[in-house]
Amino acid sequence: MIRFSPPYMDADIIGEVTSILESGWLTTGPATQQLEKETASYCNIDHVLAVNSATSGMMLMLHWYGITKGDEVIVPVYTYCATALAVMHVGAKPVMVDVGRDFNIDCQKIKAAITKRTKAIIAVDFAGWPCDYDAIYNMVNEEEVQKKFQPATETQRQLGRIMIMDDAAHALGATYKKKPIGSCADVTVFSLHAVKNITSAEGGLIALNMPAPFNNGEVYKTLRVWSLNGQTKDAFTKTKAGGWQYDVIYPGFKMNMPDVLAAVALAQLKKYENQLLVDRKRVFDYYTNVFSQYDWAICPPYQQPGCTSSYHLYPLRIKDITEEERNKIIENIAARSVAVNVHFMPLPMLTVFRQAGYNINDFPSAYNLYSNEISLPIYPQLTNDECKTVTEAVIGSVKQLHPLKALRNSMRIPEQQTLLSGDI
Ligand SMILES: *Cc1c(COP(=O)(O)O)cnc(C)c1O
Repeated sequence: MIRFSPPYMDADIIGEVTSILESGWLTTGPATQQLEKETASYCNIDHVLAVNSATSGMMLMLHWYGITKGDEVIVPVYTYCATALAVMHVGAKPVMVDVGRDFNIDCQKIKAAITKRTKAIIAVDFAGWPCDYDAIYNMVNEEEVQKKFQPATETQRQLGRIMIMDDAAHALGATYKKKPIGSCADVTVFSLHAVKNITSAEGGLIALNMPAPFNNGEVYKTLRVWSLNGQTKDAFTKTKAGGWQYDVIYPGFKMNMPDVLAAVALAQLKKYENQLLVDRKRVFDYYTNVFSQYDWAICPPYQQPGCTSSYHLYPLRIKDITEEERNKIIENIAARSVAVNVHFMPLPMLTVFRQAGYNINDFPSAYNLYSNEISLPIYPQLTNDECKTVTEAVIGSVKQLHPLKALRNSMRIPEQQTLLSGDI
């Protein structure tokens, strides 16, 4: 059985965790701080705050920006539920926007969704492929958009426009126009959940990139207090001799990351750029080389000058099939001992959002992507032999459903293979 997404574990990671377990300090302390420093440097920014999940991180940042009841936050309809739930948890309304052929939020449609209540946009770098941040910033800075913005707090007045947040749960290690993701939006939130590229079992990272006049060091300090019940000293500092006194200055949350978990992510991070990410790309390229020879296959986006994916998912699409046919193909692939998945069910197809009045018929592009999408296993441990097993299982299953489809298209001209996803 080829699993879908087992976490990467080795003796070095286990060693790092063991040393924390033996150190006498388990929760937020030196290892968490080290993780913050190293991820900040990896993203080419100065301040990262580690928290207990990406969901928490997004909630904390929306709250920090003063977003509350009566406000609207624009989110893509094609994402994990957490993107929209974070908005609902601060009392605001997620305004869903359809996505483009690269699975990412459609910038033209964002503009149409902006109202005087809009306080933030959350862009999701789907599968690790960056959104077009230049386009989003340019649009938000257009005079007619800017004029609609109605700041309600000092923080909102200081920024003077809609805040741009990157839900980069998939995208640690990706680059947009040669800049690392983490430095492309006002704030970027990464997930360290067990299925993501780097994991701490559960966890999140908030990468701060607020423009002047904000001081990201000060923002970091505020957020850190707010993530620790509003307490002025963390438990680690209080354990130091004579350091027992503290105050609680804000009704904060409990969202801090423990050192035991930070150690898992730290050990993985050491191997990320030169090993784990390279191997993800190897698997991604293997699939693309095989599937680009078939007319029925639409490979995910992977080429645009200056942009690279973090190869978090391999969202293959099968042309001209229905949702039911896709489901049959998945069953067939499973029968060949390969676990695949679907990313994602567009939000309105989930009960909680459907009951809140969102309707999938309003998002034809998202439904079209979803209905013929199959996410293939992609992780560093996959050998080329296993990749071959995966591609054969997919091709065999498509052939079983549509004998004519699975013919290799030997006439394909090379230029076509370099087109972005869904250009057909
Ligand atoms: C996994 C995921 C999240 C949530 O991350 P957590 O760390 O589990 O809170 C948010 N957005 C997207 C797009 C995700 O895939």
